[in-house]
Amino acid sequence: MDCSMEKNQGYCTCTYASCSQKYKCCECLHYHRKMDQLPACYFSKDYEKTYDRSVANFLKMREDKKTVMHEAK
Ligand code: SF4
Repeated sequence: MDCSMEKNQGYCTCTYASCSQKYKCCECLHYHRKMDQLPACYFSKDYEKTYDRSVANFLKMREDKKTVMHEAK
């Protein structure tokens, strides 16, 4: 199966300009998984721009969302 880099561009929210894995989702995922991280596209715009791809930061983002959703009720 060929890599669909052109199609992946439509999904990619990564703003790290010099990333060599950009649009190569399988390489990006394996790279971040080895680092106990998640790819940029898992993060909201505000969290993505911190370049903190840790699982802890992802969980913090999810908790923030819950807090915002809870406050909105
Ligand atoms: S897996 Fe990586 S390359 Fe693919 S869309 Fe997400 S951040 Fe971009």
